[in-house]
Amino acid sequence: MALRAAGLALLLALTAAAAALAQERARPVESAGMPVATDARLGGDAKQTRFVVDLSHKIDIRAFALADPYRVVVDMPQVNFQFPPKTGERGRGLVKAYRFGLVMVGGSRIVLDTTGPVRIEKAFVLDPVAGAPARLVVDLVAVDRATFLRAAAIDNRLPREAAPRPLLRDSQPGDPRPMIVIDPGHGGIDHGTTAGGTGVLEKTLVLEFGLMLRDKLEKTGKYRVAMTRTDDTFVPLNERVAFARTRQAQLFISIHCDALARGDGTAEGATVYTLSERASDDEAARLAEKENRADVIAGVDLSREPDDVADILIDLAQRETKTFSGRFARQLISELKPATRLHKNPLKSAGFRVLKAPDVPSVLIELGYVSNREDLKQLVSDSWRSRAGDAIVQSIGAFFGNRVAGAPASR
Ligand SMILES: [Zn+2]
Repeated sequence: MALRAAGLALLLALTAAAAALAQERARPVESAGMPVATDARLGGDAKQTRFVVDLSHKIDIRAFALADPYRVVVDMPQVNFQFPPKTGERGRGLVKAYRFGLVMVGGSRIVLDTTGPVRIEKAFVLDPVAGAPARLVVDLVAVDRATFLRAAAIDNRLPREAAPRPLLRDSQPGDPRPMIVIDPGHGGIDHGTTAGGTGVLEKTLVLEFGLMLRDKLEKTGKYRVAMTRTDDTFVPLNERVAFARTRQAQLFISIHCDALARGDGTAEGATVYTLSERASDDEAARLAEKENRADVIAGVDLSREPDDVADILIDLAQRETKTFSGRFARQLISELKPATRLHKNPLKSAGFRVLKAPDVPSVLIELGYVSNREDLKQLVSDSWRSRAGDAIVQSIGAFFGNRVAGAPASR
């Protein structure tokens, strides 16, 4: 009898396993059923412009316009974009250019940069008919700023932002080890910089580097590590800061790569940035401005984001954090020096939004210039990444070592 029960239990377990396996197999089919966008085009002129996207099937969309800079955002469920290369780079009529990509898990977005204030006259999706694909259509009409702002004020009363994304890799309560947050820049619809004709995207490079750094840090067993993103998803700048603060991170490391305009390929090597009210030089100012545009690129409504950068910068409570950030940045430079090429002035500061947590020592590392051939060669090389990663782990060890020996790290 007992044997029979055991046999039955085994049979049930096997059935469950088979069902789980079947479910596992079903997943790719599900993603294969994801709507596919195959082409996009613009028509019309500077008064009236139509934007059309061909889709494998009908989807729900929501379109809204934002100011400063003027842009139109089209939100939709997750879509597999299979547009021809360079789609969106050239505009027509009221649209200067456009971008598309994931903006959150399960959600895609298209952002149209417009030449000025526009009204969304129509935004709809047509059913496929007689062999023609389903079509997303957005009609834009030029308006003046006052008209635009009136429409936006009405639109603003409607809830817009999607449900908060699930938190990634939550910390274990009661674990005394320091929490380090790794922040791979950009993601999803925001590609960051691109390496000329190679198609290498900053968002991909920095994610790969961040995941490697996480693994190296976890391997030491000395730290808890959390990442602001672990896949190709867009995360707004303020959310990255909030992510570190709610986890009471003791160190925040944002990872980026820079690029310079063609013909200026002389700049090379890694640079470490800390937060400051005044940029240390013109290049730092240019870079901070570029990195701070991430939210605009992804179509985040900045009029709803509190701009507390300036407030926090003058807050004296931040002095200790600033000291620690500076100390870590110097430590980082001295460990990176033997491991990789550094910029001629490797330590700089500027008003990066992502570094503004008043209570978390924060640095932003530009690993190198994707516009520089030698730098790019390094950035995609596993052995270089591993060496640079080891150097960062070393500097983190030194940083927390000093904090324990010198100032108390209690907070
Ligand atoms: Zn960047």
